[in-house]
Amino acid sequence: MPTEFHIGIDDTDSESGGCTTYTGAVLYQELYDIGIRPSDYPWLVRLNPNIPWKTRGNGAISIHLIIDEDQIETVQHLAVRITKETAHLSDKRADPAVVFLRGPVPMILQEYSLSALHNVLSIDQARSVARKASVETHLLKGSRGLIGSLASIGAGLDSVAHTFEIIAYRTRENLGTSRRVNSESIKVMDSKQGSGTFHNLDPESGRILVCPHGPDPVLLGIRGLTPQGVQDAFNRVQINETVERIMIFKTNQGTDAHLTQHRKVIELARYQSAVVTGRVDTVPKIVRGGHVIFQLSDETGSLSCAAYAPTRSLKAAARDLLPGDRARVYGGIRRYRNGKPTLNLEKIDLLSLVENVNKENPICNLCGSRCESMGRGQGLRCKKCGLHNETGTTIRIVTPRSLQLATYTAVVSARRHLSRPGNTVR
Ligand SMILES: [Zn+2]
Repeated sequence: MPTEFHIGIDDTDSESGGCTTYTGAVLYQELYDIGIRPSDYPWLVRLNPNIPWKTRGNGAISIHLIIDEDQIETVQHLAVRITKETAHLSDKRADPAVVFLRGPVPMILQEYSLSALHNVLSIDQARSVARKASVETHLLKGSRGLIGSLASIGAGLDSVAHTFEIIAYRTRENLGTSRRVNSESIKVMDSKQGSGTFHNLDPESGRILVCPHGPDPVLLGIRGLTPQGVQDAFNRVQINETVERIMIFKTNQGTDAHLTQHRKVIELARYQSAVVTGRVDTVPKIVRGGHVIFQLSDETGSLSCAAYAPTRSLKAAARDLLPGDRARVYGGIRRYRNGKPTLNLEKIDLLSLVENVNKENPICNLCGSRCESMGRGQGLRCKKCGLHNETGTTIRIVTPRSLQLATYTAVVSARRHLSRPGNTVR
């Protein structure tokens, strides 16, 4: 009897190289080589990007199979061996984990995965979930990789919003050298593929975003909406070095999946991803470095919102807010200052805008200089000639707002793996 069988892998990467996606690609392809066909593309699952100790994009991998009981042992041996071979075990930051689940994914793992997109989870909690879901765990060193490997199995990318990424890997001898990919061909690909792919380049500076920097084995990765779209885009790129292997992943990148948890200010905690709806309380302040800070409150409290300078279009929108505007803000809680949470903004939805009204005293009819108010209901008096106008009032000056009731996002170069493409309003 064939059964569902799921493999989750996390934390095989490190600062000095390695990459969890590479482990996933090798395993997927070796399964193919022994005649085992996974039931879906391998999943590349990005988790809460606001956890500071996960600096490399917080991604985990899962592979999903429908296989005969008697193949399970072979698959498990292969998965553990390949994880050992590809993980950078000597690096103290790598904490690889491989986990196995027989049968359908239980609700508790789906809920756990959702939580891993928004919260900071403990290893004890991960152990408890693994036990309750009857997940078999293989920890190669420490336990930290357990969280992502469990969450990747439960991500439900067969039903929830997803995109695809095609990743090409470098050969071992090229690791650490500069990537020989023709930039012009990427620009041509970007213009030809239209909206089928995203985040190929920074449209403002023209900087290439598909190639990472540093020693990891990824030569380039192209993100897009369909497997065929990313394959076609890849075929247009001119590569001048040997490619070891190519893999297409199904992923939650580009879906804003981490920005779906609506919270009240009082519920916020450090390193969460959060969405808060409230009223702007202060005129935004531009601080050192060009960052923009404003206060927002709901009925439970207030928080500081920070739009950092590199987010450019987002920062520009934040700067033009006025007290009384209503907004939904999206981002990560990175720190508390004086007991107040600070949300690093990734996106703002403007829900309502106040009128930008200024009041001005009119000019004196007699001498042309500025009048002053005599107090409420007392009319105006000219400062220079003393003319008293008992019925005069101040003039309301309404300046049109530069903002619209729209969604404002960071420029492409300042977005996260999970950030949804498009949306930038200028
Ligand atoms: Zn006058």
